[in-house]
Amino acid sequence: MPRYNSVLDAIGNTPLIRLQRASEETGCEIYGKAEFLNPGQSVKDRAGLAIIRDAEDKGLLDPGAIIVEGTAGNTGIGLALVANALGYRTVIVIPETQSEEKKDALRLMGAELIEVPAVPYRNPNNYVKLSGRLAEQLARTHPQGAIWANQFDNVANRDAHVVTTAEEIWHQTAGEVDGFICAVGTGGTLAGTAIGLKRRSGRIKIGIADPMGASLYNYYAHGELKAEGSSITEGIGQGRITANLEGFKPDFAYQIPDEDALRIVFALVHEEGLCLGGSSGINIAGAIRMAREMGPGHTIVTVLCDYGNRYQSKLFNPAFLKEKGLPTPGWIEAKPAEFDIPFE
Ligand code: PMP
Repeated sequence: MPRYNSVLDAIGNTPLIRLQRASEETGCEIYGKAEFLNPGQSVKDRAGLAIIRDAEDKGLLDPGAIIVEGTAGNTGIGLALVANALGYRTVIVIPETQSEEKKDALRLMGAELIEVPAVPYRNPNNYVKLSGRLAEQLARTHPQGAIWANQFDNVANRDAHVVTTAEEIWHQTAGEVDGFICAVGTGGTLAGTAIGLKRRSGRIKIGIADPMGASLYNYYAHGELKAEGSSITEGIGQGRITANLEGFKPDFAYQIPDEDALRIVFALVHEEGLCLGGSSGINIAGAIRMAREMGPGHTIVTVLCDYGNRYQSKLFNPAFLKEKGLPTPGWIEAKPAEFDIPFE
């Protein structure tokens, strides 16, 4: 095992984990990149580190400066841990609908949290736009200055995946990867990994796994940004072409209902000991569809974005699932212990 100088060196270089049932059912080798093993426990540590390093390289960050961001949570956690390690402060604007576990993780890191109502992007009080205006204001008024991380339209996010995620996957599969697929929040992971892998080999196919309520499936499959339905997944589901997605075009596009993603998430806990968040379920469902379309014998990689404990109160809460009309496996209900304890 390596020896690191700081927690920042522990970001990235995550293992690939073979997904047993998904592989067996498709006759392909399906691997998940275990991004939940990053120090902030999600794929977004990579973007957090890259965005802050990019701002430093451009001379935009004085010691003690404030990093402002609008985030569903994971990017904020990544930014906050990097900011703490490098001597900056973090102010996070988050839609109040996001999981309490992610908000707690942000508070734990000492980020200043501003919860705002969840409204669509076209509304001027959308969390992303609010964070941009707040950053502008703090840049003028805070003595140490402030920057806006702007993960959606800051391509330092995508570049992180070109130089790290894609290269790691290429080497981990000894160049035998045939396909890569994941969902889109900012598009940094998908577009960046796609650029890096296609640079390595033009034969590698790229897929997008879009949740319901997002517009990108219709855009890439039918040329129209159009959303239908809704999803309880967090951190994914985009309605516009962000700067990170500019120039990106997938070979395959799938729309994945929450029911499919949740069945996979629940089965993975029970059968493979892997407890993941909802976006990972969307990704794996997409990888299975892509494997079926490409045919047996291919190696397909997807992303295990974060860990299930970040959604204990939602995805793994029977009351929440029932309220949303989603499948609830029996084992999730609290049960009395089956065995008598031999107290003396
Ligand atoms: N899954 C989760 C849980 C996330 O928080 C995010 C980031 N918003 C993503 C997936 C999507 O990653 P990206 O922003 O790189 O598209």
